[in-house]
Amino acid sequence: MTFDYDLFVIGGGSGGVRAARIAASEHGARVGLAEESRMGGTCVIRGCVPKKLMIFASQAEAHAAEARGYGWQTAGAGAFDWTMFRHKLDAELTRLEGAYTGGLAAANVDIHKQRARLADAHTVELADGQRLTAKHILIAAGGRPALPGIEGEELGLISDDLFLLEDLPGRVLVVGGGFIACEFATILQGLGCQTTLSYRGDAVLRGFDGEMRRHATEQLRMIGVDLRLESNPVRLAAEGEARRVDFADGSSEVFDAVIFATGRAPYTKGLGLEQAGVKLGRKGEIVVDEWSQSSVPSIYAVGDVTDRVNLTPVAIREGHSFADTVFGAKPRKVDHGLVASAVYTRPHELATVGLTEEEAAARGPALIYVASFRPMRSLFAGSDARAAMKLIVDAETDRVLGCHIFGPEAGEMIQMVAIPMGMGATKADFDAAIAVHPTLAEELVTMRKPTRRIGDDNSDKADASA
Ligand code: FAD
Repeated sequence: MTFDYDLFVIGGGSGGVRAARIAASEHGARVGLAEESRMGGTCVIRGCVPKKLMIFASQAEAHAAEARGYGWQTAGAGAFDWTMFRHKLDAELTRLEGAYTGGLAAANVDIHKQRARLADAHTVELADGQRLTAKHILIAAGGRPALPGIEGEELGLISDDLFLLEDLPGRVLVVGGGFIACEFATILQGLGCQTTLSYRGDAVLRGFDGEMRRHATEQLRMIGVDLRLESNPVRLAAEGEARRVDFADGSSEVFDAVIFATGRAPYTKGLGLEQAGVKLGRKGEIVVDEWSQSSVPSIYAVGDVTDRVNLTPVAIREGHSFADTVFGAKPRKVDHGLVASAVYTRPHELATVGLTEEEAAARGPALIYVASFRPMRSLFAGSDARAAMKLIVDAETDRVLGCHIFGPEAGEMIQMVAIPMGMGATKADFDAAIAVHPTLAEELVTMRKPTRRIGDDNSDKADASA
Protein backbone atom coordinates (compact mmCIF):
# COMPACT_ATOMS: atom_id res chain seq x y z
CA MET A 1 0.00 0.00 0.00
CA THR A 2 1.31 3.49 -0.78
CA PHE A 3 0.76 6.23 1.76
CA ASP A 4 0.57 10.00 1.34
CA TYR A 5 3.27 10.32 4.02
CA ASP A 6 5.80 8.19 5.87
CA LEU A 7 4.86 10.11 9.02
CA PHE A 8 1.94 12.30 10.00
CA VAL A 9 2.32 14.28 13.23
CA ILE A 10 -0.69 15.63 15.14
CA GLY A 11 0.50 18.64 17.17
CA GLY A 12 3.15 21.28 16.48
CA GLY A 13 4.51 21.66 20.02
CA SER A 14 7.84 20.69 21.56
CA GLY A 15 7.63 16.95 20.84
CA GLY A 16 5.82 17.04 17.49
CA VAL A 17 8.01 19.69 15.87
CA ARG A 18 11.24 17.94 16.88
CA ALA A 19 10.02 14.53 15.66
CA ALA A 20 8.79 15.94 12.32
CA ARG A 21 11.97 17.91 11.67
CA ILE A 22 14.37 15.08 12.50
CA ALA A 23 12.37 12.46 10.58
CA ALA A 24 12.29 14.70 7.49
CA SER A 25 15.64 16.46 7.52
CA GLU A 26 17.91 13.78 8.98
CA HIS A 27 16.20 10.59 7.88
CA GLY A 28 14.55 11.67 4.61
CA ALA A 29 10.99 10.79 5.60
CA ARG A 30 7.99 12.40 3.86
CA VAL A 31 6.27 14.18 6.73
CA GLY A 32 2.98 16.03 7.25
CA LEU A 33 2.09 17.89 10.48
CA ALA A 34 -1.21 19.37 11.67
CA GLU A 35 -1.34 22.20 14.22
CA GLU A 36 -4.71 23.64 15.20
CA SER A 37 -3.34 26.69 17.03
CA ARG A 38 -0.03 28.56 16.99
CA MET A 39 3.10 26.64 16.00
CA GLY A 40 5.42 25.98 18.94
CA GLY A 41 2.76 24.65 21.32
CA THR A 42 2.41 25.17 25.05
CA CYS A 43 6.04 25.87 25.86
CA VAL A 44 6.52 28.63 23.31
CA ILE A 45 3.08 30.22 23.22
CA ARG A 46 1.50 29.70 26.68
CA GLY A 47 4.12 28.13 28.94
CA CYS A 48 7.87 28.19 29.58
CA VAL A 49 8.84 31.09 27.34
CA PRO A 50 6.19 33.75 28.13
CA LYS A 51 6.16 32.83 31.82
CA LYS A 52 9.95 33.16 32.15
CA LEU A 53 9.85 36.56 30.43
CA MET A 54 7.13 37.54 32.90
CA ILE A 55 9.27 36.34 35.79
CA PHE A 56 12.03 38.65 34.52
CA ALA A 57 9.54 41.54 34.23
CA SER A 58 8.20 40.94 37.72
CA GLN A 59 11.60 41.33 39.37
CA ALA A 60 12.20 45.00 38.61
CA GLU A 61 10.96 46.26 41.99
CA ALA A 62 13.05 43.68 43.86
CA HIS A 63 16.10 44.67 41.82
CA ALA A 64 15.49 48.34 42.61
CA ALA A 65 15.25 47.50 46.32
CA GLU A 66 18.52 45.61 46.09
CA ALA A 67 20.13 48.52 44.23
CA ARG A 68 19.11 50.81 47.12
CA GLY A 69 20.85 48.36 49.44
CA TYR A 70 24.01 48.91 47.43
CA GLY A 71 23.81 52.69 47.69
CA TRP A 72 21.86 53.63 44.58
CA GLN A 73 19.50 56.55 45.23
CA THR A 74 16.52 55.08 43.41
CA ALA A 75 12.93 55.35 44.67
CA GLY A 76 11.79 52.17 42.89
CA ALA A 77 11.39 50.59 39.50
CA GLY A 78 8.69 53.07 38.43
CA ALA A 79 5.28 52.27 36.91
CA PHE A 80 4.86 49.03 34.96
CA ASP A 81 3.37 49.35 31.48
CA TRP A 82 1.54 46.05 30.99
CA THR A 83 0.24 47.01 27.53
CA MET A 84 3.75 47.73 26.28
CA PHE A 85 5.07 44.48 27.79
CA ARG A 86 2.24 42.42 26.30
CA HIS A 87 2.76 43.80 22.82
CA LYS A 88 6.46 43.13 23.05
CA LEU A 89 5.80 39.63 24.38
CA ASP A 90 3.41 38.89 21.55
CA ALA A 91 5.95 40.10 18.98
CA GLU A 92 8.55 37.80 20.53
CA LEU A 93 6.21 34.81 20.49
CA THR A 94 5.34 35.57 16.85
CA ARG A 95 9.07 35.62 16.07
CA LEU A 96 9.55 32.23 17.75
CA GLU A 97 6.45 30.83 16.04
CA GLY A 98 7.95 31.92 12.73
CA ALA A 99 11.23 30.22 13.57
CA TYR A 100 9.44 26.93 14.31
CA THR A 101 7.36 27.15 11.12
CA GLY A 102 10.45 28.11 9.11
CA GLY A 103 12.43 25.17 10.51
CA LEU A 104 9.70 22.74 9.47
CA ALA A 105 9.33 24.29 6.02
CA ALA A 106 13.11 24.13 5.50
CA ALA A 107 12.94 20.42 6.33
CA ASN A 108 10.18 20.01 3.71
CA VAL A 109 7.49 19.14 6.26
CA ASP A 110 3.97 19.82 4.91
CA ILE A 111 2.19 22.01 7.45
CA HIS A 112 -1.60 21.75 7.79
CA LYS A 113 -2.85 24.66 9.89
CA GLN A 114 -5.92 22.91 11.23
CA ARG A 115 -7.17 20.30 13.65
CA ALA A 116 -6.60 16.65 12.85
CA ARG A 117 -8.08 13.44 14.22
CA LEU A 118 -7.50 9.76 13.62
CA ALA A 119 -9.79 8.02 11.17
CA ASP A 120 -8.02 4.66 11.48
CA ALA A 121 -4.57 3.21 12.17
CA HIS A 122 -3.07 4.82 9.04
CA THR A 123 -5.44 7.70 8.25
CA VAL A 124 -5.95 11.17 9.69
CA GLU A 125 -8.90 13.40 8.92
CA LEU A 126 -8.36 17.15 8.88
CA ALA A 127 -10.98 19.66 10.01
CA ASP A 128 -11.70 20.57 6.37
CA GLY A 129 -12.63 16.95 5.66
CA GLN A 130 -9.43 16.03 3.80
CA ARG A 131 -8.17 12.51 4.55
CA LEU A 132 -4.45 11.74 4.48
CA THR A 133 -2.72 8.40 4.93
CA ALA A 134 0.61 7.71 6.63
CA LYS A 135 2.68 4.66 7.40
CA HIS A 136 3.21 5.99 10.92
CA ILE A 137 1.20 8.50 12.92
CA LEU A 138 2.64 10.40 15.89
CA ILE A 139 0.27 11.95 18.41
CA ALA A 140 1.93 14.94 20.11
CA ALA A 141 -1.24 16.80 21.14
CA GLY A 142 0.05 17.90 24.58
CA GLY A 143 -2.08 18.66 27.62
CA ARG A 144 -4.72 21.13 28.73
CA PRO A 145 -5.39 22.84 32.07
CA ALA A 146 -7.72 20.78 34.27
CA LEU A 147 -10.35 22.58 36.37
CA PRO A 148 -11.22 21.44 39.91
CA GLY A 149 -14.90 20.75 39.18
CA ILE A 150 -16.48 23.40 41.43
CA GLU A 151 -19.61 25.49 40.90
CA GLY A 152 -19.00 28.59 38.76
CA GLU A 153 -15.48 27.55 37.73
CA GLU A 154 -16.15 28.80 34.18
CA LEU A 155 -15.91 32.31 35.67
CA GLY A 156 -12.26 31.70 36.47
CA LEU A 157 -9.25 31.89 34.19
CA ILE A 158 -6.74 29.18 33.25
CA SER A 159 -2.97 29.49 32.81
CA ASP A 160 -3.32 30.21 29.04
CA ASP A 161 -5.30 33.37 29.89
CA LEU A 162 -2.53 35.03 31.91
CA PHE A 163 -0.64 35.77 28.71
CA LEU A 164 -3.71 37.37 27.06
CA LEU A 165 -5.03 39.65 29.83
CA GLU A 166 -6.03 43.13 28.63
CA ASP A 167 -5.33 44.57 32.08
CA LEU A 168 -3.67 43.21 35.19
CA PRO A 169 -6.18 42.43 37.96
CA GLY A 170 -5.99 44.51 41.15
CA ARG A 171 -6.85 41.59 43.46
CA VAL A 172 -6.15 38.11 42.14
CA LEU A 173 -6.67 34.64 43.56
CA VAL A 174 -4.43 31.86 42.25
CA VAL A 175 -5.79 28.40 43.05
CA GLY A 176 -3.29 25.52 43.22
CA GLY A 177 0.07 24.63 44.72
CA GLY A 178 2.09 23.18 41.84
CA PHE A 179 4.92 24.85 39.96
CA ILE A 180 2.61 26.84 37.69
CA ALA A 181 0.59 28.20 40.65
CA CYS A 182 3.76 29.21 42.53
CA GLU A 183 5.32 30.86 39.50
CA PHE A 184 2.11 32.71 38.61
CA ALA A 185 1.71 33.99 42.19
CA THR A 186 5.35 35.18 42.08
CA ILE A 187 4.78 36.97 38.76
CA LEU A 188 1.49 38.62 39.71
CA GLN A 189 2.75 39.78 43.10
CA GLY A 190 5.89 41.17 41.46
CA LEU A 191 3.85 43.05 38.85
CA GLY A 192 1.93 44.80 41.62
CA CYS A 193 -1.26 42.72 41.88
CA GLN A 194 -2.57 42.00 45.37
CA THR A 195 -2.09 38.24 45.16
CA THR A 196 -3.66 35.45 47.20
CA LEU A 197 -2.72 31.81 46.72
CA SER A 198 -5.15 29.16 47.90
CA TYR A 199 -3.90 25.61 48.16
CA ARG A 200 -5.50 22.59 49.79
CA GLY A 201 -2.21 21.10 51.12
CA ASP A 202 -0.04 22.25 54.01
CA ALA A 203 2.96 23.22 51.83
CA VAL A 204 3.23 24.05 48.12
CA LEU A 205 5.00 21.92 45.47
CA ARG A 206 3.80 18.46 46.40
CA GLY A 207 6.23 15.82 45.14
CA PHE A 208 9.33 17.97 45.73
CA ASP A 209 11.71 17.45 48.67
CA GLY A 210 9.84 18.25 51.90
CA GLU A 211 12.49 20.58 53.35
CA MET A 212 12.66 22.51 50.07
CA ARG A 213 8.87 22.74 49.93
CA ARG A 214 8.92 24.49 53.28
CA HIS A 215 11.47 27.02 52.00
CA ALA A 216 9.38 27.67 48.88
CA THR A 217 6.21 28.04 50.93
CA GLU A 218 7.86 30.50 53.31
CA GLN A 219 9.28 32.52 50.43
CA LEU A 220 5.83 33.09 48.90
CA ARG A 221 4.80 34.65 52.21
CA MET A 222 8.04 36.64 52.36
CA ILE A 223 7.45 38.29 48.99
CA GLY A 224 3.97 39.36 50.10
CA VAL A 225 1.67 36.68 48.67
CA ASP A 226 -1.34 36.13 50.94
CA LEU A 227 -0.87 32.38 51.29
CA ARG A 228 -3.89 30.32 52.34
CA LEU A 229 -2.91 26.74 53.03
CA GLU A 230 -5.42 23.94 53.64
CA SER A 231 -7.87 26.21 51.87
CA ASN A 232 -10.46 25.11 49.31
CA PRO A 233 -12.58 27.36 47.10
CA VAL A 234 -15.95 25.68 46.60
CA ARG A 235 -17.97 28.20 44.54
CA LEU A 236 -17.44 31.17 42.23
CA ALA A 237 -20.10 33.78 41.40
CA ALA A 238 -19.97 36.95 39.30
CA GLU A 239 -20.28 40.31 41.05
CA GLY A 240 -20.21 42.65 38.08
CA GLU A 241 -16.77 42.20 36.57
CA ALA A 242 -15.41 40.78 39.85
CA ARG A 243 -15.68 37.25 41.26
CA ARG A 244 -16.99 36.26 44.66
CA VAL A 245 -15.28 33.13 45.95
CA ASP A 246 -16.79 30.97 48.69
CA PHE A 247 -14.31 28.81 50.57
CA ALA A 248 -14.93 25.45 52.29
CA ASP A 249 -14.39 27.01 55.74
CA GLY A 250 -17.45 29.25 55.18
CA SER A 251 -15.51 32.42 54.38
CA SER A 252 -16.20 34.44 51.24
CA GLU A 253 -14.13 37.05 49.42
CA VAL A 254 -14.19 39.14 46.25
CA PHE A 255 -11.33 39.15 43.72
CA ASP A 256 -10.94 40.87 40.37
CA ALA A 257 -9.77 37.61 38.83
CA VAL A 258 -9.39 33.97 39.80
CA ILE A 259 -6.77 31.84 38.04
CA PHE A 260 -7.02 28.07 38.31
CA ALA A 261 -3.65 26.32 38.22
CA THR A 262 -5.08 23.05 39.44
CA GLY A 263 -3.24 20.60 37.22
CA ARG A 264 -3.18 19.54 33.59
CA ALA A 265 -4.64 16.60 31.72
CA PRO A 266 -3.62 14.90 28.45
CA TYR A 267 -5.48 16.43 25.50
CA THR A 268 -6.85 13.25 23.94
CA LYS A 269 -10.55 14.06 23.74
CA GLY A 270 -12.06 13.96 20.25
CA LEU A 271 -8.90 12.56 18.64
CA GLY A 272 -10.60 9.33 17.58
CA LEU A 273 -8.16 7.27 19.61
CA GLU A 274 -10.58 4.76 21.14
CA GLN A 275 -12.17 4.03 17.76
CA ALA A 276 -8.72 3.35 16.31
CA GLY A 277 -8.04 0.93 19.17
CA VAL A 278 -5.45 3.07 21.00
CA LYS A 279 -5.31 2.19 24.69
CA LEU A 280 -5.78 5.12 27.10
CA GLY A 281 -4.88 5.32 30.79
CA ARG A 282 -6.89 6.58 33.76
CA LYS A 283 -6.24 10.27 33.07
CA GLY A 284 -6.90 9.86 29.34
CA GLU A 285 -3.19 9.60 28.56
CA ILE A 286 -2.00 7.49 25.63
CA VAL A 287 -0.38 4.36 27.02
CA VAL A 288 2.97 3.79 25.29
CA ASP A 289 5.93 1.46 25.69
CA GLU A 290 9.57 2.47 26.11
CA TRP A 291 9.74 3.24 22.36
CA SER A 292 6.72 5.58 22.61
CA GLN A 293 4.66 3.06 20.64
CA SER A 294 0.95 2.79 21.48
CA SER A 295 -1.19 -0.36 21.52
CA VAL A 296 -1.70 0.16 17.75
CA PRO A 297 1.70 -0.57 16.10
CA SER A 298 1.54 2.25 13.51
CA ILE A 299 0.59 4.88 16.13
CA TYR A 300 3.15 6.47 18.47
CA ALA A 301 2.81 9.25 21.03
CA VAL A 302 5.25 11.62 22.74
CA GLY A 303 5.13 14.48 25.23
CA ASP A 304 2.43 15.53 27.68
CA VAL A 305 -0.22 13.46 25.90
CA THR A 306 1.50 10.38 27.35
CA ASP A 307 1.73 11.91 30.88
CA ARG A 308 5.21 10.58 31.63
CA VAL A 309 7.40 13.54 32.69
CA ASN A 310 5.56 16.63 31.52
CA LEU A 311 8.42 18.97 30.64
CA THR A 312 9.55 20.46 27.33
CA PRO A 313 13.03 18.89 27.16
CA VAL A 314 11.48 15.48 27.83
CA ALA A 315 8.94 15.91 25.01
CA ILE A 316 11.76 17.00 22.70
CA ARG A 317 13.93 14.03 23.63
CA GLU A 318 11.00 11.62 23.17
CA GLY A 319 10.22 13.13 19.73
CA HIS A 320 13.85 12.96 18.65
CA SER A 321 14.29 9.38 19.89
CA PHE A 322 11.10 8.31 18.12
CA ALA A 323 12.34 9.77 14.80
CA ASP A 324 15.78 8.15 15.16
CA THR A 325 14.28 4.80 16.12
CA VAL A 326 11.56 4.55 13.48
CA PHE A 327 13.17 6.40 10.53
CA GLY A 328 16.89 6.40 11.26
CA ALA A 329 17.50 2.79 12.25
CA LYS A 330 19.12 4.19 15.42
CA PRO A 331 16.99 2.73 18.23
CA ARG A 332 16.99 5.16 21.19
CA LYS A 333 15.01 4.92 24.41
CA VAL A 334 14.47 7.86 26.76
CA ASP A 335 15.64 7.49 30.33
CA HIS A 336 12.99 9.24 32.43
CA GLY A 337 14.82 8.40 35.64
CA LEU A 338 17.04 11.41 36.25
CA VAL A 339 15.37 14.51 34.83
CA ALA A 340 16.41 17.83 36.35
CA SER A 341 13.83 20.61 36.64
CA ALA A 342 13.35 24.05 38.17
CA VAL A 343 10.56 26.15 39.62
CA TYR A 344 11.14 29.79 38.73
CA THR A 345 9.97 31.46 41.91
CA ARG A 346 11.86 34.53 43.13
CA PRO A 347 14.10 35.66 44.69
CA HIS A 348 15.02 31.98 44.96
CA GLU A 349 14.28 29.24 42.48
CA LEU A 350 13.84 25.63 43.50
CA ALA A 351 15.77 23.20 41.34
CA THR A 352 15.98 19.49 41.72
CA VAL A 353 17.38 16.28 40.29
CA GLY A 354 17.11 12.74 41.59
CA LEU A 355 15.53 11.43 44.77
CA THR A 356 13.89 13.56 47.44
CA GLU A 357 14.81 12.90 51.07
CA GLU A 358 11.45 11.19 51.54
CA GLU A 359 12.05 8.89 48.57
CA ALA A 360 15.58 8.14 49.71
CA ALA A 361 14.39 7.29 53.24
CA ALA A 362 11.94 4.76 51.82
CA ARG A 363 14.72 3.24 49.70
CA GLY A 364 17.38 2.63 52.33
CA PRO A 365 20.25 4.16 54.35
CA ALA A 366 21.36 7.57 53.07
CA LEU A 367 23.35 10.52 54.34
CA ILE A 368 21.86 13.98 54.05
CA TYR A 369 24.14 16.99 53.60
CA VAL A 370 22.49 20.37 53.99
CA ALA A 371 23.89 23.87 53.74
CA SER A 372 21.53 26.71 54.64
CA PHE A 373 22.80 30.26 54.45
CA ARG A 374 22.05 33.86 53.48
CA PRO A 375 23.62 34.55 50.07
CA MET A 376 26.25 37.27 50.11
CA ARG A 377 24.58 39.42 47.45
CA SER A 378 21.14 39.77 49.04
CA LEU A 379 22.52 39.78 52.59
CA PHE A 380 24.62 42.85 51.82
CA ALA A 381 21.52 44.58 50.44
CA GLY A 382 19.70 43.91 53.71
CA SER A 383 17.67 40.80 52.89
CA ASP A 384 17.21 37.88 55.28
CA ALA A 385 16.29 35.46 52.49
CA ARG A 386 17.94 32.08 53.09
CA ALA A 387 19.18 29.71 50.42
CA ALA A 388 19.55 25.97 50.94
CA MET A 389 21.39 23.16 49.22
CA LYS A 390 20.97 19.48 49.86
CA LEU A 391 22.80 16.41 48.68
CA ILE A 392 21.38 12.96 49.30
CA VAL A 393 24.03 10.29 49.29
CA ASP A 394 23.72 6.50 49.37
CA ALA A 395 25.24 5.53 52.75
CA GLU A 396 26.75 2.35 51.34
CA THR A 397 27.95 3.24 47.84
CA ASP A 398 28.60 6.98 48.39
CA ARG A 399 26.68 7.65 45.16
CA VAL A 400 24.83 10.99 44.99
CA LEU A 401 21.15 10.10 44.69
CA GLY A 402 19.56 13.54 44.83
CA CYS A 403 20.40 17.22 44.74
CA HIS A 404 18.05 20.04 45.67
CA ILE A 405 18.91 23.71 45.46
CA PHE A 406 16.81 26.60 46.74
CA GLY A 407 18.59 29.76 45.75
CA PRO A 408 19.16 32.41 43.09
CA GLU A 409 19.60 30.89 39.60
CA ALA A 410 19.20 27.39 41.03
CA GLY A 411 17.96 26.21 37.62
CA GLU A 412 21.30 27.14 36.08
CA MET A 413 23.19 25.21 38.76
CA ILE A 414 21.12 22.03 38.67
CA GLN A 415 21.75 21.58 34.96
CA MET A 416 25.44 21.14 35.73
CA VAL A 417 24.83 18.84 38.70
CA ALA A 418 22.66 16.58 36.51
CA ILE A 419 25.70 15.68 34.39
CA PRO A 420 27.89 14.04 37.08
CA MET A 421 24.82 12.50 38.69
CA GLY A 422 23.89 10.89 35.37
CA MET A 423 27.43 9.48 35.24
CA GLY A 424 27.02 7.94 38.68
CA ALA A 425 29.15 10.43 40.62
CA THR A 426 29.86 9.80 44.30
CA LYS A 427 30.06 12.33 47.11
CA ALA A 428 33.85 11.82 46.97
CA ASP A 429 33.78 12.97 43.32
CA PHE A 430 31.93 16.14 44.35
CA ASP A 431 34.44 16.72 47.17
CA ALA A 432 37.34 16.27 44.75
CA ALA A 433 36.26 19.32 42.76
CA ILE A 434 37.96 22.50 43.94
CA ALA A 435 35.46 25.24 44.72
CA VAL A 436 34.90 28.34 42.59
CA HIS A 437 34.97 31.18 45.08
CA PRO A 438 32.99 33.23 45.91
CA THR A 439 29.92 31.58 44.42
CA LEU A 440 26.77 29.93 45.71
CA ALA A 441 27.59 26.73 43.85
CA GLU A 442 30.76 26.19 45.85
CA GLU A 443 28.54 24.94 48.68
CA LEU A 444 27.86 21.87 46.57
CA VAL A 445 31.48 20.78 46.80
CA THR A 446 32.26 21.95 50.33
CA MET A 447 29.65 20.14 52.46
CA ARG A 448 31.95 18.02 54.60
CA LYS A 449 29.81 16.53 57.39
CA PRO A 450 26.41 14.90 56.95
CA THR A 451 23.56 16.70 58.73
CA ARG A 452 21.72 13.44 59.37
CA ARG A 453 21.42 9.80 58.39
CA ILE A 454 18.10 8.38 57.22
CA GLY A 455 16.49 5.15 55.99
CA ASP A 456 18.14 2.61 58.29
CA ASP A 457 14.74 0.96 58.77
CA ASN A 458 14.70 0.21 55.03
CA SER A 459 18.14 -1.26 54.47
CA ASP A 460 16.79 -4.41 52.73
CA LYS A 461 15.10 -2.22 50.08
CA ALA A 462 18.37 -0.50 49.18
CA ASP A 463 19.99 -3.92 48.73
CA ALA A 464 17.15 -4.96 46.43
CA SER A 465 17.34 -1.81 44.29
CA ALA A 466 21.13 -1.59 44.16
P1 FAD B 1 2.46 20.92 23.50
O1 FAD B 1 3.63 21.79 23.56
O2 FAD B 1 1.30 21.25 24.37
O3 FAD B 1 1.99 20.90 21.99
C1 FAD B 1 0.82 20.25 21.57
C2 FAD B 1 0.31 20.96 20.34
O4 FAD B 1 -0.66 20.16 19.70
C3 FAD B 1 -0.38 22.29 20.64
O5 FAD B 1 0.19 23.31 19.87
C4 FAD B 1 -1.83 22.04 20.24
O6 FAD B 1 -2.46 23.20 19.71
C5 FAD B 1 -1.69 20.97 19.20
N1 FAD B 1 -2.85 20.09 19.03
C6 FAD B 1 -3.49 19.40 20.02
N2 FAD B 1 -4.46 18.64 19.48
C7 FAD B 1 -4.42 18.84 18.14
C8 FAD B 1 -5.18 18.32 17.06
N3 FAD B 1 -6.15 17.42 17.25
N4 FAD B 1 -4.89 18.75 15.81
C9 FAD B 1 -3.89 19.65 15.59
N5 FAD B 1 -3.16 20.18 16.58
C10 FAD B 1 -3.41 19.77 17.85
N6 FAD B 1 8.15 22.79 30.87
C11 FAD B 1 9.47 22.99 31.11
O7 FAD B 1 10.28 22.14 30.77
N7 FAD B 1 9.90 24.13 31.73
C12 FAD B 1 9.04 25.11 32.11
O8 FAD B 1 9.47 26.13 32.67
C13 FAD B 1 7.65 24.93 31.85
N8 FAD B 1 6.77 25.89 32.19
C14 FAD B 1 5.45 25.73 31.87
C15 FAD B 1 4.55 26.74 32.21
C16 FAD B 1 3.22 26.62 31.93
C17 FAD B 1 2.28 27.73 32.29
C18 FAD B 1 2.75 25.43 31.30
C19 FAD B 1 1.29 25.27 30.98
C20 FAD B 1 3.62 24.41 30.96
C21 FAD B 1 4.97 24.54 31.25
N9 FAD B 1 5.90 23.55 30.94
C22 FAD B 1 7.23 23.73 31.22
C23 FAD B 1 5.47 22.26 30.34
C24 FAD B 1 5.72 22.26 28.81
O9 FAD B 1 5.13 23.39 28.24
C25 FAD B 1 5.15 20.99 28.21
O10 FAD B 1 5.68 19.87 28.89
C26 FAD B 1 5.50 20.86 26.73
O11 FAD B 1 5.02 21.95 26.00
C27 FAD B 1 4.91 19.55 26.18
O12 FAD B 1 5.15 19.47 24.79
P2 FAD B 1 4.18 18.60 23.87
O13 FAD B 1 4.81 18.57 22.51
O14 FAD B 1 3.84 17.33 24.51
O15 FAD B 1 2.80 19.41 23.81
